[in-house]
Amino acid sequence: MLKAENLKVIYDNKTLALQDINLKVGHGEFVGIIGSSGSGKSTLLKCMNLLVRPTGGKICLDDRDLMSLTSKGLREIRREIGFIFQDYNLIDRSTVIDNVLIGRLSYKTPFQSLFRIFSQDDYERAQKALSYVALEEKMYERADQLSGGQKQRVAIAKTLCQRPKVMLADEPVASLDQATAHLIMEYFRRANQKKNITILINLHDVKLAKTYCSRIIGLKKGSLVFDGKAGELTDDI
Ligand code: ADP
Ligand code: ADP
Repeated sequence: MLKAENLKVIYDNKTLALQDINLKVGHGEFVGIIGSSGSGKSTLLKCMNLLVRPTGGKICLDDRDLMSLTSKGLREIRREIGFIFQDYNLIDRSTVIDNVLIGRLSYKTPFQSLFRIFSQDDYERAQKALSYVALEEKMYERADQLSGGQKQRVAIAKTLCQRPKVMLADEPVASLDQATAHLIMEYFRRANQKKNITILINLHDVKLAKTYCSRIIGLKKGSLVFDGKAGELTDDI
């Protein structure tokens, strides 16, 4: 279970980005986080794997307190909690398969990691992850040759290769057209239903959140203003 307790984030410039956030997300949930731009969605998600370090409060995964972990412990946690960015975060000049293999780095020793030494097994897993998002035939193309939707599918494959328990996705469909956005959401749905991965996803589009997420969290000016089933959502948040 992923848990946030009395979470507070104040950025260096004194912006209060989050306050009094209390959340428990159970294993296998599919949670959509909604709220207007600047409401704190991205900050909340980044706190969940300490890409942003909270100013106050606590984050726990299965009773491990993330803030008290050593850097080794944190590396292990980040294998369990994958992060997907709006702008894909791929290495443009590398091939698709090389980008996916990066998801395997968390399983490597520092030496293997530094010299990017991968085994046959790593390649097979990367290939399998690519076939999961139907991109096997693009394996040897450069990442910058792909469309936005394809890039996001590569990012999903890369994260799957980490075998995460949780996937955090920060507005993963915000720069995509409607049809492609639905396709990407379907991949998240399948990862949730077939692989039982817990998903927390930031969505600007409330309709998409209602369609795919079983639970919705609403943020407004850094505070939690809604936490419930998609069907209970009213128009005023
Ligand atoms: P959202 O994802 O809902 O758009 P964010 O979490 O990005 O919201 O931002 C919440 C607030 O924190 C906003 O006021 C934003 O300007 C501010 N903020 C976000 N990142 C930083 C940062 N690195 N430094 C200072 N302020 C930031
Ligand atoms: P499925 O059989 O449904 O495709 P798997 O759990 O076998 O699911 O594999 C899902 C993804 O996780 C694959 O893309 C693979 O690369 C990766 N994967 C599977 N097993 C491991 C493992 N032991 N360590 C790391 N990654 C793995």
